[in-house]
Order: sequence, then C-alpha cells, then structure tokens
Amino acid sequence: MAKAGYATVGEFHYVHHDPRGKAYADPAELAWRIVAAAEEVGLGLTLLPVFYAHAGFGGAEITQDQRRFAHSVDSYARLIEALNPAASERRFLIGIAPHSLRAVTADEFAQIIRLGPADAPLHIHAAEQAKEVDECVAWSGTRPVDWLLKHANIDRRWCVVHATQMTDDEIRTLARSGAVAGLAPTTEADLGDGTFPAEQYVVAGGAFGVGSDSNTLIDPFAELRQLEWSQRLHLHRRNVLGSDESPVGTSLWARAARGGAQALAQKAGAISRSYRADLVVLNGGDAALAQQGVDNILDAAIFGPCRQPVRDVMSGGAWIVRDGHHAREAEIFARYRAALRSLGH
Ligand SMILES: [Zn+2]
Repeated sequence: MAKAGYATVGEFHYVHHDPRGKAYADPAELAWRIVAAAEEVGLGLTLLPVFYAHAGFGGAEITQDQRRFAHSVDSYARLIEALNPAASERRFLIGIAPHSLRAVTADEFAQIIRLGPADAPLHIHAAEQAKEVDECVAWSGTRPVDWLLKHANIDRRWCVVHATQMTDDEIRTLARSGAVAGLAPTTEADLGDGTFPAEQYVVAGGAFGVGSDSNTLIDPFAELRQLEWSQRLHLHRRNVLGSDESPVGTSLWARAARGGAQALAQKAGAISRSYRADLVVLNGGDAALAQQGVDNILDAAIFGPCRQPVRDVMSGGAWIVRDGHHAREAEIFARYRAALRSLGH
C-alpha cells in the first residue's frame, strides 16, 4: 500500500479467529498483527474491527466458513476494550464497523455502534449489489441506505461502504448527511456490482474516499481512474468529476484525500498546520510525467500511460518510501514467501 501511494489505511478487519472459528489465546491476536504490520511499514492506521454475526438478513445463522468472523456483542465489546488502551501509545485509531445489515440484527447494530468513543468513525457495507437490496426490502420493507438513513442517525462519523445501489432520494439524503461514501471502484468493477452514481452524489455535496477492498488492485490512481471512467461510460460524457476550479485529476485526488481522512477520523487529507504530513511525491522519472506542469500532473498520473506514478511517500512526517522502495521491502517479501510456503503454496 505504501509503495502505491497510500500513507494511512483504514483496515476493515473481520478475520478474528482461527480457521475452525475458535478464539486465539489472545482474542485480539489478529488485530495486534495488523497494528504490528502498520507499525513495521510506517503506515498510519485506523483499525476497524468488524462485527459480523449472521449469514443473512434477520439474524440468519452464521455458516461454517464464516465462523472465523463471528462475534457476540459481548465478545466484540471485549475486543474493543482490549484494543483501546494501546491505541494512543501505539498511535492508531479505533473505529466501529457493523459489517452490513446482512450480518448484524437491528438490535445488535444499536448496541455495538455505542461501544466506541463519541467521535469514533463508523463503517458499514451497504447496497453493494442488487440482490442485497432485494433481500433488505424483503426483510424490512426498505432499501439498505434508506434503512440506515432512517434508523442510524447517519452523519459525518459514518462511512457507508460501496453504496452502489441508490435511488435519487437516497443519493441526495446520503450526500447531505455529511457521511463519506467508501468507494472501491476496481473491486466493484471486478465483481460486476454496478456503477456508483458519483456525479449526482458529488453535485449534491457528497464526500467520498477510495479503498482497495478485495485487493484486486492496490493502487489509488487506478481506483480514481476507474471511478471517473465508469461515470464517462455511464453518462456518455468526458471530464465528469472535474470542477470549474480544478482539472479532473486534481479534483478527484483532493476529494478522495479529504473524504478518506474524514472516514478514518485522521487529521489528514490536506497540507495544513497540525495535520499529519501524509505526502506523495510523484515520479518525474516516469516518461508520462516528465515535463508535466502542476495543473496537469495528476491527470497524467491517473489517466496517462504512467506505470510508476509514485516516487516517495511520507506518512505522519516520516519518509516510508524513497525512490520507489521501502527500506524493509526485501525482508518483508522474504517473510511473505516463507508464509505462503508454510501454507503449501
Ligand atoms: Zn466491500
């Protein structure tokens, strides 16, 4: 992620237990592994432990394969409690993440969103695919985003992940709520989810961020390209998400940086006093970026034939990538290879 140009990550984390679904000796074991990984690489972290308890709407029983994800409200509350004291010392933030309305009953939803501090970010998947919308209507008489808007006091603390399937009314109301739409355009394309109504949503004042979700690609430039291109294909127009003040690449990057930082409750996403110094230096050594001016360089990096847009990355004031390399990448890759071998790959 660091080498691709991400400086801070929100980890929507739901593999909590061992392969049989048993809690580890330390039930927060896998959360600590994520904290350690972010520390080793130097990425900023908002850890989003996911509450996942059911296989479908209305409290359907969890399947065997999903047992690694499952928590009760009590065990989830203990997980949050175990992580909380370490957060300030190890410099990560904690958010609360009910997985989706499929995986959480209304009662559990109401209990767990109160478990974090008053300003904790809240993340939930909603309205990714048409089937989920149909099942939600069958369960509650209303659509997922509409359900959240009516029952969850959706505001700036919330990140509604995907939100692909929305009516005009849902688009406007979600945009005005102050929440962030957490988009994963390359994953949504890979899965054939549909097209996020980005133009309508942005015109209505909506904020968005981008993430890598299923890691089909890990590349913020590719996410923003896919987002803009999906709009062009859908609307039969060019330059959909640009604005009068800035070209489309600059506008996409600035919106995503601001929205992403808001969704992670991190003081980042802009170059400003008391903000995290999360900075990306573009690679002037890539032929597609050579001689580009400030106004156009993000357009070239996102939409041009650029293969390696990132030269350096600073996270929280420390350089973690220099000249396209992370200082520990060889060692980390060797350990990754060994881990794959031990799994029989
Ligand atoms: Zn997702």
